[in-house]
Amino acid sequence: MNLVLLGAPGAGKGTQAKKLEDEYGLAHISTGDLLRAAVAAQSELGVKAKSYMDAGQLVPDDLVIGLVKERLAQDDAQKGFILDGFPRTTAQAQELATQLEAMGIALDAALLVEVAPEVIIKRLSSRRTCPSCGFTAGEETKTCPRCGATMYQRDDDNPEAVATRLTAYENQTKPLIEYYTSHGLLREVDGDRPVDVVYASVKDTLGL
Ligand code: AMP
Repeated sequence: MNLVLLGAPGAGKGTQAKKLEDEYGLAHISTGDLLRAAVAAQSELGVKAKSYMDAGQLVPDDLVIGLVKERLAQDDAQKGFILDGFPRTTAQAQELATQLEAMGIALDAALLVEVAPEVIIKRLSSRRTCPSCGFTAGEETKTCPRCGATMYQRDDDNPEAVATRLTAYENQTKPLIEYYTSHGLLREVDGDRPVDVVYASVKDTLGL
């Protein structure tokens, strides 16, 4: 199965993607995780991306598209993938469609995890992230239950960057709901419920 996950930052895309990865062996491709790894490695891409990410703005399309193309070509993605945080603009969605067509691969669904903005702001301000595997949880979780690393608060989970990220979502990413609806691919789940209840709904919606 080849999936795109849509939804605001903090909607729970990463959490649901990890559960699908663990249960079905799909490759979880998070552009946020790939970019944070590039920043940590101080690669040329990481250096270019850092200031946008710190401010909560989207990284320019050409940088992110290159990263995803490379990742989709890797072996583990051939048996199915979940794109988490990509595409985030119409140009990225069009580029993805072109790339997948060239690879002879079809998307099965674009799944929107829907959560109200007030809930998102609350969630992100108390969110902790695993620096090693990207697992996220509330501030009470000090150690990653998946891989044992010490959880930290992401630099862009501060109020100013969160506000900018939500604006970027509204203006640049929300139009993709219409884009994928018009391609007959949009599915939707209510993300404002406990993780396992959302996950049951994800599987049901995807026919898994
Ligand atoms: P995320 O972990 O998905 O919240 O992404 C963290 C940050 O990485 C975002 O606020 C953007 O600065 C950048 N980013 C991640 N994915 C993309 C994308 N598809 N297009 C542009 N910027 C992205």
